[in-house]
Amino acid sequence: MYPRQFDYVAPGSLDEAFGALGDTSKVMAGGMSLIPLMKMRLFSPGTVVDIGRIGGLDTIDDHGDHISIGALVRHAETASSGAVPTALATAASLTGDVQVRNRGTTCGALAHADVAADQPAGALACGAVMVAQSASGTREIPASEFFVDALTSALHHDEILTSVKIPKAGDGEGSAYDKLGRRGGRSDYAVAGAAAWVKKSNGSIEAARVALTGVGTKPQLADGVAEALVGTDGSDGAVEAAADRALEGVTVLEDLYGSEEYKSHLAKVYVTRAVKQALANI
Ligand SMILES: Cc1cc2nc3c(=O)[nH]c(=O)nc-3n(C[C@H](O)[C@H](O)[C@H](O)COP(=O)(O)OP(=O)(O)OC[C@H]3O[C@@H](n4cnc5c(N)ncnc54)[C@H](O)[C@@H]3O)c2cc1C
Repeated sequence: MYPRQFDYVAPGSLDEAFGALGDTSKVMAGGMSLIPLMKMRLFSPGTVVDIGRIGGLDTIDDHGDHISIGALVRHAETASSGAVPTALATAASLTGDVQVRNRGTTCGALAHADVAADQPAGALACGAVMVAQSASGTREIPASEFFVDALTSALHHDEILTSVKIPKAGDGEGSAYDKLGRRGGRSDYAVAGAAAWVKKSNGSIEAARVALTGVGTKPQLADGVAEALVGTDGSDGAVEAAADRALEGVTVLEDLYGSEEYKSHLAKVYVTRAVKQALANI
């Protein structure tokens, strides 16, 4: 199907882009989700604001205690940079196929806020902070407040997610991501997936963040799991017991790829795997 008619602008600067944004506009980065949804007429923007020609948004920068991933950094670069914590890098490496990873952007995957996307879970577990810019200034939004509902983020219509900040992994910290992809493989949207970040000191878990995707109405933190992990030694038994709390506060959604019962089961399986792998990655 063809999309409805729309205007297209390709600004050369952020200021020009802000000037083109309005109530019926959509930002386009890689177009890997926007274009299919426009063709299905699920999105019918009046204006597409293509940010692909704006300079300075395509780098991963080291800021000492954190890195920042610019709005035009592709999944493939996030996956391979070596500077990105494992949970997010792995999520990027498992996003779609080679073509999608070479076109789609990490910030686009976050802004798109698909219920079954990979990188939102990685960003949540890594404690990411979204940097949203508009003509009126800059807002920093913690990942835990960014994913609002299915395909709905905390971004306003006039804002561009110009970068995402990720704390650098410190001593005693490890992270991981794993999922079951829809067609049985791993490079496809998640039937269910989980990302985990853990910090261990003196033999016990001092802090943890665990996030789910594909299971509920949005990618979200599983705070109960993190709470149950803290203070334990991170043994298999402790991790498995903590994973029993994976669905606290989660409304499990049945879809074409799994019943509520199956997804609930998978959530615990992938939380267990992600936490064990994060501990192994310290
Ligand atoms: C065949 C195929 C397989 C895929 N498989 C997977 C998969 O396995 N896992 C997965 O997670 N995803 C998958 N995707 C989606 C893919 O990862 C997209 O690249 C990603 O969701 C969006 O990134 P993009 O840069 O292409 O964004 P676009 O398609 O350009 O935009 C997507 C949405 O985000 C908004 N947006 C984009 N960038 C910004 C920004 N900087 N600021 C504000 N708003 C912005 C747009 O307005 C739009 O609403 C797949 C896509 C395809 C086509």
